Amino acid sequence: MAGLGAFLKGLRVTGKVMVDTVFGDGLVTTKYPEEFRPKPQRFHGRHVLNRYPDGMEKCIGCELCAGACPARCIYVRGLDNPPEHPVSPGERYGYVYEINMLRCIFCGLCVEACPTEAITMTHLFEMSTSNRGDAIYTRNELLMRPDGSVPHMFPEDPLAKMSELATADGWVRATAPSGVAAYEGVQAWQGTPGPASWAPEPTQEELDA
Ligand code: SF4
Ligand code: SF4
Repeated sequence: MAGLGAFLKGLRVTGKVMVDTVFGDGLVTTKYPEEFRPKPQRFHGRHVLNRYPDGMEKCIGCELCAGACPARCIYVRGLDNPPEHPVSPGERYGYVYEINMLRCIFCGLCVEACPTEAITMTHLFEMSTSNRGDAIYTRNELLMRPDGSVPHMFPEDPLAKMSELATADGWVRATAPSGVAAYEGVQAWQGTPGPASWAPEPTQEELDA
């Protein structure tokens, strides 16, 4: 009897979806790519390497993300920052940074492991390629541009303009250890990639006052 109950329950769900699809507005499919549904805030899409508001790269080439990755799909090589023109605030920066998207399971552990919030994930899910080589994202595809925009793997693709590229799955720390004074000592967070596109959040003291 339990089996029959489960069967009838499933049949009822199927029937409801069919009725909604034909007579109601409960469509279960949309015309893609013209229409697409917004993703949940914590959707795990392709990665991005972030910058501080002063334009410096957040990645310090520590390789912790590569160590944490269960799929072993991140390859990082750090290089000492040139003293005259440092790329990041640390001793080193991510000179080589690659993610093999064919192996990535989008678990987000690299994001968790990163001590500087250099790597976060966007809402972009369009990653099909016609060859394996294009599935390996390098600094060219991952590193945020100085204006805060995120490069797309295929710039000629109309989908490159999709809003997912402008949304991150989590908080990006805005605090710059060097540069913009307004951010000094302030732990400010934002949900979208892009340097200097947000105002620092109030400090705990200001919230308590
Ligand atoms: S999301 Fe997971 S599998 Fe993908 S690169 Fe990060 S740690 Fe590796
Ligand atoms: S992305 Fe983060 S964890 Fe990975 S090498 Fe750069 S600073 Fe280290």
